[in-house]
Amino acid sequence: MTEMRTLKVALLGCGNVGAQVARILIEDADALAARTGARLQLSGIAVRNVNADREVELPQELFTTDAETLVKDADLVIELMGGIEPARTLILSALRNGACVVTGNKALLAQDGPTLYEEADKAGVQLSYEAAVAGAIPILRPIRDSLSGDRITRVLGIVNGTTNFILDQMDTTGAQFADALAEAQRLGYAEADPTADVEGHDAAAKAAILASLSFHTRFGLENVHCEGITSVTASDIAAAKDAGFVIKLLAIAEKLVDEEGREGVSVRVHPTLLPREHPLAAVHGAFNAVFIEAENAGELMFYGQGAGGTPTASAVLGDLVSAARRLVLGGPGRTETTTGHVPALPIDAATTSYYIGLDVADQPGVLAKIAQLFAEHGVSIEIMRQTIHRDAESNVESAELRIVTHRASEAALAATVEAVKGLDVINSVTSVLRVEGV
Ligand code: NAP
Repeated sequence: MTEMRTLKVALLGCGNVGAQVARILIEDADALAARTGARLQLSGIAVRNVNADREVELPQELFTTDAETLVKDADLVIELMGGIEPARTLILSALRNGACVVTGNKALLAQDGPTLYEEADKAGVQLSYEAAVAGAIPILRPIRDSLSGDRITRVLGIVNGTTNFILDQMDTTGAQFADALAEAQRLGYAEADPTADVEGHDAAAKAAILASLSFHTRFGLENVHCEGITSVTASDIAAAKDAGFVIKLLAIAEKLVDEEGREGVSVRVHPTLLPREHPLAAVHGAFNAVFIEAENAGELMFYGQGAGGTPTASAVLGDLVSAARRLVLGGPGRTETTTGHVPALPIDAATTSYYIGLDVADQPGVLAKIAQLFAEHGVSIEIMRQTIHRDAESNVESAELRIVTHRASEAALAATVEAVKGLDVINSVTSVLRVEGV
């Protein structure tokens, strides 16, 4: 019997995810060898502080601060340090040395992915990043491999657990955004500085990756229209609930044909109303899910834990075994195809349904005036509901109008809302939110 080959694995970072990856590499060494056809030997772990307390007990001699030397001698490099530098330089150096690289670094991929993909192409090695989108959920390989014989038309993803937890908390308890955020921080779902999550930047990085793989074209952060959840109020949530909707922060990538007949991809992140019966509406707490529509497969949904050391380590190990098998069997790294060449459409060209909340005068003829104005702007109304309120002190009546439109372009909707504001019967526009899944 021929002896099994040994592949050296360099691990960069030993935090939440890295520590669990190291643990699994050591504990499950035999099973991983059986699946790979080679022994995966953890050759070292690069960190900032070799003496820090770790969540997992690991042999002290594995730790080093010299990441560059560790990378030079590795067959496989796992980058779990996060941030742009030195992660970027170390990954490039690993690829140039002919090592396969596994990373979970969505920020780096969104900012400088093309440089890394090109370097991997040039070197003929594998660069894998399943952990970068939706943690444990196998989503990138299904898009790249399982659906490679189909045409994806739309991807809707809840890809940020922190914001899903906050919105879910607001929906179930009626809390305001600030209180729900404080609760998320108390429970460890949100960081002390929650900007990247609540402003949608983290979801935007993932949207760029999902769009690139789904539409075989490289999209970067500059192609993603991004709105976070900081302006979503308890009354938006209550109104949505009343109308049968739930508000989710969605990462959306969809193929569209704009009004001039140009085909393109709209990539965007924004708070979105979903009907309560939509599968994504049932994604609670910090869970993630990605809903895909493809021409032949129809609708698919992938659900699971979008973060956490152990769940994310599962995705990293899956990539590692796959890359290691390629080294054992030979052949170039599998790269995504970039032959789609579909342009990114500006947000103005995106079409979606809208929910519009209006505070209006309680007078006869108001509904007709508003309906006519929408029609003049080419925005057709699907649902219009009126609720009358009476102020207990002043005894003055006002009416709240809730409108859901058919699909319309952002530009048409913006013009309609501006025109509505100018009507004398309008007290205020209380909310304008996009709707999907109707
Ligand atoms: P983390 O807990 O902050 O750990 C980072 C590790 O990298 C630490 O061990 C740190 O060393 C080391 N490190 C940082 N800068 C370094 C430098 N300049 N030189 C050497 N070592 C350095 O991060 P994490 O939560 O595990 O996340 C790692 C990556 O996975 C990130 O790209 C993140 O976006 C991605 N990811 C994370 C999750 C998750 O649930 N956490 C989910 C999906 C993807 P010290 O320990 O010595 O400080």
